[in-house]
Amino acid sequence: MDTASSAGQEIILKGVAAAPGISFGPAYLYSKLIPHVEEKPITEEEVPAEIERLHNANARSEKELQKIHAFAEQKLGSQNARIFEAQIMILADAILMGAIEKRIAEEHRNAEFIVADEITKYKQIMLASHDEYMHERAHDVEDVMNRIIRNIQDQKLYSRLEGASIIVSESLAPSDTVIFSRNQVLGYATDLGGVTSHAAILARSLKIPAVVGLRTATKLITTGDTIAIDGYAGLIVLNPTEETLGTLQRKKGRYTEFEGRLVNIAGISAETADHKQIELSANIAFETEIEFSRAQGSAGIGLFRTESQLIGKTSYPGEEEQYEAYRKVADEVYPHSVIFRTFDVGGDKIAPDTEHEANPFLGWRGIRVLLDRPELFLDQIRGILRASTRKNVRIMFPMISTVQELRRAREIVAQAKKELDERALPYDPDIKIGIMIEVPAAAVLAEQMAAEADFLSIGTNDLIQYLLAVDRDNAAVAPLYQQFNPAVLKTIRHIIDAGHKKGVWVGMCGEMAGDPLATVLLVGLGIDELSVIPSVLPEIKKIILSIKYKEAKRVADKVLAMSTEEEIRDHLSSITKNKVPEIPLDE
Ligand code: PEP
Ligand code: MG
Repeated sequence: MDTASSAGQEIILKGVAAAPGISFGPAYLYSKLIPHVEEKPITEEEVPAEIERLHNANARSEKELQKIHAFAEQKLGSQNARIFEAQIMILADAILMGAIEKRIAEEHRNAEFIVADEITKYKQIMLASHDEYMHERAHDVEDVMNRIIRNIQDQKLYSRLEGASIIVSESLAPSDTVIFSRNQVLGYATDLGGVTSHAAILARSLKIPAVVGLRTATKLITTGDTIAIDGYAGLIVLNPTEETLGTLQRKKGRYTEFEGRLVNIAGISAETADHKQIELSANIAFETEIEFSRAQGSAGIGLFRTESQLIGKTSYPGEEEQYEAYRKVADEVYPHSVIFRTFDVGGDKIAPDTEHEANPFLGWRGIRVLLDRPELFLDQIRGILRASTRKNVRIMFPMISTVQELRRAREIVAQAKKELDERALPYDPDIKIGIMIEVPAAAVLAEQMAAEADFLSIGTNDLIQYLLAVDRDNAAVAPLYQQFNPAVLKTIRHIIDAGHKKGVWVGMCGEMAGDPLATVLLVGLGIDELSVIPSVLPEIKKIILSIKYKEAKRVADKVLAMSTEEEIRDHLSSITKNKVPEIPLDE
């Protein structure tokens, strides 16, 4: 639909929803001033002056970023402002700046050319990665590079708006997002970018609707055009009709009212109407997500995917580096707790040094890798243990398929404790150790597993694929990937009952935990904890608050007697609609 261009005609552009909210207004086309860099030779005598220009530009860039950082800190809190600390650190990177100076002196070429060339090398490495997060970080590096070059060239960046506008741009750097927010910004629409971009994270914190990945927005929209932005659906409407505006206005009203009520429940613990407590926590991979999880009302982190520590690395980070990262997370989550899952490498996930395998999901994955490489395992466990001094840290092992694996992993923890004792370093001696139940063999043996673990967390993402023999990432078999398949539900019941029989709590951290359709059923099956993506947390909490455990148990019994996923879905849909009629549905 994004090819029409005649003036006045309504055009809908589909992108990716990056920050929720709906607004309408004139567009402001922000074409970023990308500095033009020319290669110029300099003489030996000019070298000191050229290096001086570089130093001055760095100092000015740092001053600008410090200002943006201070503004961001005040407006967004220190967590979100850290993005700018990272940019300031690039400026202060002695190795990078030393390399640039050396090249100016040796190659006799102008400062901006060498800056562009040297920093672009870093950017290319980041862009070559298959990881979306690294791609986004490459844009941050580029932002710093453009800032230094603009300052070497003495150029000014303008970001003044005439009145309230929706910013339309090819891409936005975090600093653009923050600087613009000083003006009246109604929304952000960009051609490029993903939801994990820092600009998108900041837009969410600033509560400004944003849609990214629109591809052609800057070609179709010009300054002054009337546009509507729907940050829930990921849509931009150019020249919206009265009818479209009316529909969006009503949707906005419903969401505003709904969100107002959700915010009120952020501080309440998740408990059914007849007082059964469910621990509702968040799944995250980055420290920057903690603040948002807390604002959404989470009671801690039920799954911290530590693979995020491996992004962009060519080797595994050592104990010290991991300790620093985990300690920050544990401190910030305190007094709630965080469950660090040890590296789940292999399968669909990154690893610094994976080998090609014919069947990676059935191959060298998760705990199997770490048990084969005890030196890496010990580094990680010592890092986690050292972060546990406030007693709010737990350890969880992925991909456990035999009891021996659990025993060997526990031995590694015991050895790591001993080594820390020898170094007189503190840790929580009673740290809880749990496992993910995501392999059918572990599910069948749940009772034996529970006898030797402190908690179980059901990883439905993998459990379903292994139980039903359906690749979780293969679109051709997607209809067979059924979380409400009776075989899956019976397995979940078995795991929960087995855990309880052995006196350990049973949680769920697969995506099913965050599906509102599953909540009544899971509560009825007796689940103790649900760890979900932060954005769905309030909705799940709302459902828990509105149901009775007694009734949920009846629903679970009824559903477990059914034979097909279709029947089960139909039944759960009718129950969920009755339980939470207030949840707004799209028109
Ligand atoms: C799971 O398998 O359900 C899970 C939570 O782990 P991941 O999605 O990281 O494999
Ligand atoms: Mg998994």
